[in-house]
Amino acid sequence: MIRVLVWNEFQHEKKKEKVAAIYPNGIHQTIADFLGKEEDIVVKTAWLDMETKDCGITQEMLDETDVLIWWGHAYHQYVPDEVAFMIRDAVLAGMGFIALHSAHHSKPFRYLLGTSCNLTWRESGDSELLWVVEPGHPITQGIDRYFRLPEVETYGEPFVIPTPDKLLFIGSYSGGEVFRSGCLFERGNGKIFYFQPGHESFPIFHDENVQTVIRNAVRFVAPTYRRMTKCPHIRKLGDERGYIIDEK
Ligand code: ZN
Repeated sequence: MIRVLVWNEFQHEKKKEKVAAIYPNGIHQTIADFLGKEEDIVVKTAWLDMETKDCGITQEMLDETDVLIWWGHAYHQYVPDEVAFMIRDAVLAGMGFIALHSAHHSKPFRYLLGTSCNLTWRESGDSELLWVVEPGHPITQGIDRYFRLPEVETYGEPFVIPTPDKLLFIGSYSGGEVFRSGCLFERGNGKIFYFQPGHESFPIFHDENVQTVIRNAVRFVAPTYRRMTKCPHIRKLGDERGYIIDEK
């Protein structure tokens, strides 16, 4: 079973009627609901102002998570640095991480990528075509040449990220912009997928194609190997006393 933890800021849903109408139980619950229907996936959820401290994330939870999905927008700074670094280290050790939409500015994503992750944006109800760049990739299976979202928040280049290890989707908007909308990175033993759709004012996580991509991404970024690669002091090959002298 792939153990997924869906983390959501969960503020807009409680403060804006329009968002609450689309996601009455929060974006995290909508994602958990469609993922939870899969036989090979079990889902938990967490959010910023959970009763527990540290925005609902503990080391124990990360140890029991194969893939962490992150949606955040206006409250990134309320996620403590210690939590963000804990997540970064879990990814370096092999945990999968999926950053959705405005999670481009989340601390875990920025600390993993090392750049500002700035971009250009506009909320004017553009439609978006998401073009498949890699039709043979596991994350794009079940998607045609492209799919269309009728209303999105426009994100445009320049997107200040390191060059992705794989670019899987290019978004093109009715307003003219293009954007690297589906990007795959590897950091340490972990895989990271960034996916652009997901603005809270539109029913994007109810879209079948978006759900297909997220389902595929969960299976793809799930760890194949989970251990922090360390920096051991080692002996020569063939030394009968063994290989590692001490492990830092
Ligand atoms: Zn947005």
